[in-house]
Amino acid sequence: EETSEAHEPIKIAKAASRHDELWDISLRARIDAAMEAGEIYCVYQPKIDMFSGSLTGVEALVRWHDPERGFISPIKFIAQCEKAGRMEHLTRYVLQTACNAGRLMHFRGSTVSMSVNISATLLNDMRIVGIVRNTLQATGFDPRALILEITETARIGDLERAASILEELKSLGVKISMDDFGVGAANFETFFGLPFDELKIDRLFVDSIARSTKARAIASSIVDMGKAARITVVAEGAEDDKTLQILNEIGCRYVQGYALARPLSLTNLLEFKESYERSETGT
Ligand code: C2E
Ligand code: MG
Ligand code: MG
Ligand code: MG
Repeated sequence: EETSEAHEPIKIAKAASRHDELWDISLRARIDAAMEAGEIYCVYQPKIDMFSGSLTGVEALVRWHDPERGFISPIKFIAQCEKAGRMEHLTRYVLQTACNAGRLMHFRGSTVSMSVNISATLLNDMRIVGIVRNTLQATGFDPRALILEITETARIGDLERAASILEELKSLGVKISMDDFGVGAANFETFFGLPFDELKIDRLFVDSIARSTKARAIASSIVDMGKAARITVVAEGAEDDKTLQILNEIGCRYVQGYALARPLSLTNLLEFKESYERSETGT
C-alpha cells in the first residue's frame, strides 16, 4: 500500500516505521468497534466573548480512550479514519453527539453555540449536506446555533464545488467557520473563495503573539480584516494572561484556550456554564 511516508527521501529506522505502520493498520481496524463501545466520545471547549465576559459557544473535540492503550491523539486517529474511509461515519457520530449535548445546554435556556469540526475532505460531494440535515432533524438542535469548522482546508480540491456545498449547508441555517487560519495552506485564497462566517486564528500562531511583535501585527490585521469583512474572528489556544491581554489590545473579541478553559466533559461543561453564568450576573 502506498503511503506518503514512502516518498520521503530519508529512511531512518525502518523497524520503527514498520511498527508505526502496523499500529496505524490496527488503529484503522478498531475504529468502528471503538465507536460502538463508546470509547470514542466528545469533550467541549468553551469559547468566551471577551467583551461581555460571557460563554458564547463551545467546540466539540473528539476523544478516543482505548482501555488497553490509553488516550489516542485525535490528530493521529483522524488521519487513520480518513485512510480507512470512515471519516463520514465518525463525523456523523460526532455531529449527533454534539447536537444532543447542544440540546441539553439549550434545555436550560441558553443560546450557546456548538462548533463541530468537519474535515475538508468531506466537501467533495453533497452527502455532508444530508448528514447535517438529518442530524438536525433527529436531534432537534437549533441550526442557528450550529457552527461547522472546516479543518484541513489545504485539501480542498475544487474550490467552486466546495463553495456550493457550503452554500447548501448555510441554507440549512448553520454557520461556517474556517479553522486553523494562518498555518499551512489555510490561506487567503481559500478564505476569499468560500462563504465563511467565522475564522479561527490557529493556536500555533496565537501562541507566538506574546513573544513576537511581527506575529502580533499580523494577528491585529487579521482581526481588522474580520471586522471589515463582517466575519467573526476567534483566537484559539490562548495559554496565558499575557496572550489574553494582547488579544484584548488588538480587539480580538472571541477567545478559546487553556487560559480560559480546557476541553470539558459534558457534565463539567454544564457545571461550568452554570457557575460561569452565576458569577457573571453576580448572583
Ligand atoms: P482544532 O480544531 O484546531 O482544535 C483545537 C485544538 O487545540 C484542540 O486539540 C484543543 O484541545 C487544543 N487547544 C485548545 N486550547 C489550547 C491551549 O490553550 N493550548 C494548547 N496547547 N492546546 C489547546 P485536540 O482536541 O487535540 O484536537 C486536535 C485537532 O484534531 C483539532 O484541531 C481538529 O483539527 C481535529 N479534531 C478534533 N476533533 C475532531 C472531530 O470531531 N472531527 C474532525 N474532523 N477533526 C477533529
Ligand atoms: Mg476546530
Ligand atoms: Mg482550530
Ligand atoms: Mg488548530
